[in-house]
Amino acid sequence: MKQLLLASALFLAACSSGQTMTKEASTADLALATEVMRALSADDMEGRLWGTQANARARAYIAAQAAALNGGLMPEEQAFTRTVTRDGETFEVTGTNLITTLPGREPGGPVLEVMAHFDHIGMTEDGEIYNGADDNASGVGALLAILKDFTQDPPEHDINVVWLDTEEFGLAGAYEYVAARVDDRPRVAMNLDMIAQNEDGQIYMSGSHHTPALRPVVEAAADGIPLRLTFGNDRPEDGPDDWSMASDHAAFHTVGIPFVYLGVADHAHYHKTTDTFETIPLDTYHAAVQLAVNTARALDENLDALARPKAETVP
Ligand SMILES: [Zn+2]
Repeated sequence: MKQLLLASALFLAACSSGQTMTKEASTADLALATEVMRALSADDMEGRLWGTQANARARAYIAAQAAALNGGLMPEEQAFTRTVTRDGETFEVTGTNLITTLPGREPGGPVLEVMAHFDHIGMTEDGEIYNGADDNASGVGALLAILKDFTQDPPEHDINVVWLDTEEFGLAGAYEYVAARVDDRPRVAMNLDMIAQNEDGQIYMSGSHHTPALRPVVEAAADGIPLRLTFGNDRPEDGPDDWSMASDHAAFHTVGIPFVYLGVADHAHYHKTTDTFETIPLDTYHAAVQLAVNTARALDENLDALARPKAETVP
């Protein structure tokens, strides 16, 4: 009941706000997002480490969920092997991204990339599970809510909904995706990574330092949503709190594509075995899912003014 009340309140708030950036606010499927977060962070997913059978089970679960929302169409699989350098050592990592492409009403123009990574860091040596509910079952759940929203009311522009693998080891899935799939069409990347774990309801949007035109669009999308949205953590002077290269959006930023990153601050459960479904504050998660759905919708509606093609280097 609480969920229904929150959804209604958000919908009414969005309708009465009088803002003009979006035609209409749609109500996110909060129950879907929550169930996906619960299922992916359950013990039988064993922390979804890249290259494991448990990771493949998580991927199969997401593919089935996506197909059910999209007329039975399974996402495309992008399997890869990449070399990652870490602390001067090189490693061969593998993974498989999932990609659902939704054709826009005006196909062929700019592209919106919406993404969340589904891998996490597995288990400890003595079998304790890193469930990764916030990191990043929360983003995967929101991404399925975005997919559902766009299948019910098709987007203006072509949209790629992408579940990325092997983020936790060198952002390998994202770099592979950009190398193999990003052509010269202008685009914007939106990344959801850790959007749930915050009792205080604070959430950050990074990326508007690099692309200031993003800020009013995301501000409008957040109108009426009970979260404290803070813009920042994306300037060189932020030091370790500059998150421009901290998650999958880095692969897009590196080639000059505007990015929107939504996520909470580091917290006590970050990369701990206590990052479980039980420790997630569901009210703020639901608000974050609605923010994600509104933001994807607003980016689509304003994409012509925001999108940029890739460059050889960061501008
Ligand atoms: Zn993550």
